[in-house]
Amino acid sequence: MPVRIAVLGSTGSIGTQALSVARLHKDRICVVALAANSNIELVSKQIEEFRPQYVGIGSDEAAQELASRHREVRIIPKVGLSLIPALPEVDIIVNGVSGFNGLFPLLAALKAGKTVALANKESIVCAHGIVDKYLSEYGGRIIPVDSEQSALFQCLAAGRREDVKRLILTASGGMFRNFSKEQLSAVTPEMALRHPTWNMGRKITVDSSSLFNKGLEIMEAGWLFGFGPDEVSVFIHPQSIVHSMVEFVDGSVVAQLAKPDMRLAIQYAITYPERIPSSIEGAGPAAFSGLEFFEPDTDRFPAIRLAYEAFREGKCLPIAYNAANEVAVERFLKGDIAFTDIASVVENTMEHMPRGRVDTVEGIIFLDEEARRLAREWKA
Ligand code: NDP
Ligand code: MG
Repeated sequence: MPVRIAVLGSTGSIGTQALSVARLHKDRICVVALAANSNIELVSKQIEEFRPQYVGIGSDEAAQELASRHREVRIIPKVGLSLIPALPEVDIIVNGVSGFNGLFPLLAALKAGKTVALANKESIVCAHGIVDKYLSEYGGRIIPVDSEQSALFQCLAAGRREDVKRLILTASGGMFRNFSKEQLSAVTPEMALRHPTWNMGRKITVDSSSLFNKGLEIMEAGWLFGFGPDEVSVFIHPQSIVHSMVEFVDGSVVAQLAKPDMRLAIQYAITYPERIPSSIEGAGPAAFSGLEFFEPDTDRFPAIRLAYEAFREGKCLPIAYNAANEVAVERFLKGDIAFTDIASVVENTMEHMPRGRVDTVEGIIFLDEEARRLAREWKA
């Protein structure tokens, strides 16, 4: 029986790559549901190719248009992200929704006890407490898709949890890793949107250059695998061949290496624990030579320092870190603030955030909105 998947965020970078994995393994993977926000032209093509039973879409108008073109499909406006994960026809939910909205399908899937192939990192950063609760109460599971988390997941299989000394995340360092502070302040949106290695959505591309992506991943790794801030390190590794490593107490380090291609991590999350042939060329030791690793410069890239601060607090500050960064990236892309202001917006938002316990989804949504308001109001 093929595994039945729902691809949420099907028109994005992760979603289209998940569909290319499904296209390659039609005998193994059946796409039963799709969801996107507004790109109905691409969704329409995806419906024709994959013939899903259900499609979630962001608005009533988009739903009407899609329904008129595809009468055989059940189109679900607005609430598709929360309804689709719980459908009995769905075995695995590929969560490639961008930003804070990725939280809702994750929680809906876990509440239904489903397996989630999770690319969306914002959801773990903002709601790790609720995610843990749902995992233990409802018996679902998360298989990470983010390449560093997929690498850690694979490396952790080499030993016992109690024998792990630390997780070592790698970061490409982005295109501006050697820029001075002055050069960084002159980075334009056009420069930030050109990533040398990965072809990703706009927000995560900017986050890769500012190292906010790595900041989010530091927290994501800690909470996905149960490690604290002192047990997660980051190294800049410009070649993006070593996707992350685990150091054990005896001094042994286990790493996962592969050519950089998200389809590998997506496929592994869908077929886990099995490994099947992929479209990615195997790479021998020659491709793995000349690997470099550097400590990140947290003075030029405050994203890392702020991430550890948010990680240590673990309640309101991660929500502030994520939301303020999302707003700041939008403001930067609109030409409203400088590239280096992104970190200032996040730092200022973290300073002014309310503090306290957050153990409900409503509380998280409230704090997310509060952080967005502070980030929108920030002035240079
Ligand atoms: P993209 O911007 O390329 O795609 C986002 C997708 O989410 C689109 O399909 C978009 O639909 C959909 N979407 C956004 N909001 C909603 C909504 N409210 N309802 C339904 N669908 C919605 O992002 P990426 O694919 O780059 O990233 C997705 C997630 O994966 C992010 O959390 C990112 O951090 C993570 N990730 C991405 C990696 C990558 O290589 N791209 C690597 C590791 C993690 P529409 O097109 O219609 O707007
Ligand atoms: Mg990553």
